[in-house]
Amino acid sequence: MTDRRAQLAMNLARVEERIAAACEAAGRKRTDVNLIVVTKTYPASDVRLLAELGVRNVAENRDQEAKPKAVDCSDLDLQWHFIGQLQTNKVRSVTGYADVVHSVDRLRLVDALASAAVRCGREIGCLIQVALDAPSGSVGSRGGAAPSDVLAVADAIAVAPGLRIEGLMAIAPLAGAYAGNPRAAFERLMEISTSVRESHPAATMVSAGMSSDLEEAVSAGATHVRVGTAVLGVRPRLG
Ligand SMILES: *Cc1c(COP(=O)(O)O)cnc(C)c1O
Repeated sequence: MTDRRAQLAMNLARVEERIAAACEAAGRKRTDVNLIVVTKTYPASDVRLLAELGVRNVAENRDQEAKPKAVDCSDLDLQWHFIGQLQTNKVRSVTGYADVVHSVDRLRLVDALASAAVRCGREIGCLIQVALDAPSGSVGSRGGAAPSDVLAVADAIAVAPGLRIEGLMAIAPLAGAYAGNPRAAFERLMEISTSVRESHPAATMVSAGMSSDLEEAVSAGATHVRVGTAVLGVRPRLG
């Protein structure tokens, strides 16, 4: 094994232990929680090693970086998740490689994704990103629809051609009422998920939890955790 491969294998094993322990503590089955490895800022060679080590889901947050990486790795059996704020002018590019977009947060983006998906003949899984602390009608500072606007976005995805409603995504807010309390943030996200599922029973994905708060997310009921740093290391630059 190369040094990098051995390091990734060790980090993955540690993250696996954390997820298993969190499931155990929450009385959940390990198979109910899926690991998505966030590969942003790391090279395609790392994605390749991760795939060899059994990773099946990877996530990226910037189209400029994600697209060439996805092309480079198109021979691998991977699901690509797009988790960054998405401008409508990047949508056509993103729908070319992303299987699931976690950051759908406004009606205009739903329309753009639907026409791009239809145009390239692909079906894109969509999660509505929730900005837990955003006031009604606004988008959060790191993206996301206000809680009161989530259902309208869900309704739009559900009837849009080329799109499939998958569930909700959130990042624990760093400021405001939820600062320092990811548990409360993720519990609120679960309440919103429950209410969205009343109208959209297929929207079962709850994408929550990162390297620092995956335990709180699993405890609240997350079905997908998005882990970067704990697998790949501290990122060399902001991403
Ligand atoms: C970078 C990123 C992650 C991963 O964060 P880590 O702290 O490195 O695990 C998860 N979700 C989103 C939306 C991100 O941008």
